[in-house]
Amino acid sequence: MNAYLASVIENVKARSAHEPEFVQTVEEVFSSLEPVIAQHPEYEQADLLSRMVEPERTFIFRVCWMADDGSWHTNTGYRCQFNGAIGPYKGGLRFHRSVDLGTMKFLAFEQTFKNALTGLPIGGGKGGSDFDPTGKSDAEIMRFCQSFMRSLYRYIGPDVDVPAGDMGVGMREVSYLFGEYRHLKGVWENGVITGKDFASGGSRIRPEATGYGAVYYLQNVLHHAGEEIAGKRIACAGFGNVTWGICKKAAQLGAKVVTLSGPDGYIYDPDGVVTEEKIKYLLEMRASGRDRVQDYADKFGVDFFPGQKPWAVPVDICMPSAMQNDVHMEQARQIAASGARYYIEVANMPTTNEALKFLMAQPHITVAPSKAVNAGGVATSALEMAQNSERLVWTAEEVDAQLHRIMNTIYQQSVEAAERYGLGYDLVAGANIAGFQRVADAMMAQGIF
Ligand code: GLU
Repeated sequence: MNAYLASVIENVKARSAHEPEFVQTVEEVFSSLEPVIAQHPEYEQADLLSRMVEPERTFIFRVCWMADDGSWHTNTGYRCQFNGAIGPYKGGLRFHRSVDLGTMKFLAFEQTFKNALTGLPIGGGKGGSDFDPTGKSDAEIMRFCQSFMRSLYRYIGPDVDVPAGDMGVGMREVSYLFGEYRHLKGVWENGVITGKDFASGGSRIRPEATGYGAVYYLQNVLHHAGEEIAGKRIACAGFGNVTWGICKKAAQLGAKVVTLSGPDGYIYDPDGVVTEEKIKYLLEMRASGRDRVQDYADKFGVDFFPGQKPWAVPVDICMPSAMQNDVHMEQARQIAASGARYYIEVANMPTTNEALKFLMAQPHITVAPSKAVNAGGVATSALEMAQNSERLVWTAEEVDAQLHRIMNTIYQQSVEAAERYGLGYDLVAGANIAGFQRVADAMMAQGIF
């Protein structure tokens, strides 16, 4: 490996040994950059890569909230403003018990390149809390969001940092957060946070955008292989907002999602999550706060497999859409043996680096990386920012058409970037290179700081 690239990776490993997910994502992105670094000696001269792996700043704050029984609880809140070279920091807030500083750094780093890939002016950031929303009442969620925003509001703004949702943070939470920001500052301020409810300035199609975008990207991959999406069987992991969008768009296009998963196991529905009733039920399951996918099996009389993941089910396409590191070597081997021909990452970093390499080496499998596949969510957030600042409201058709165009461009750019550096049809390296190149250009132009 190129000596400069290797030394930066070694340095990150030594300094961030306590943040394994961050080390993992740096290694994954940088391992694609070999030919780029070789052609650009000026990056080493300016030590660009060392600056790219250090967040511009990170805020860590206390969040206190009262439960319905009157007891007080304290959590940690985070906002990591990783890279603002191409626009205001942009990225979601995650409420999940697993959240720590390392999680925030890996997600914000990944977000920087994803946002660059969209071609829109948005920098990379991420935030959240180790607060666990499972089983919390609506009033508890509201009080937590209000308290969280009381600490966060001073660090964000429409030209500074524009948060959104992520795991555990959907439209309800975003709207509570927005309400508290507006209350504290006394201004509407261009929406300041995206994924709001429609009446408060949210964009049409934003709830569906990540899932729809993933399917639009998938269509590009299928067309490249001379295939159509109609008739395809898809295995999804997760049953959240993103999976809901995938089910909806896949059903519209004549494909079917046959598995869903949760922390409790997975369900197999051979008829597919295709009817309006089933698709709507995903939203109910999520809103119940129970975080159990077994409820789907109980309601629709399909099989539930406790404690298992869905990757041995024979399908055409695998779309891991739950959370990071869901697919290790054991699952990757199952996928390789299951006959699936497309491995389309959807969640942020759903695959360990070892498993990803293994899947990419399978001649019968095409792999697409999450930072390209799931970028439709944040891209539509940028469209929400545009609507809010222009004081306009676009129709669902207008937003959907833009989203579709953006996903096609992301795919095309990734293909071209890999080809330009002699890597052939490599969607993983292509996405890393195209995202990196845009951030690198801006950072080089802005001088060293
Ligand atoms: N959390 C989503 C992501 O990972 C959306 C971020 C946004 O809309 O700003 O990209």
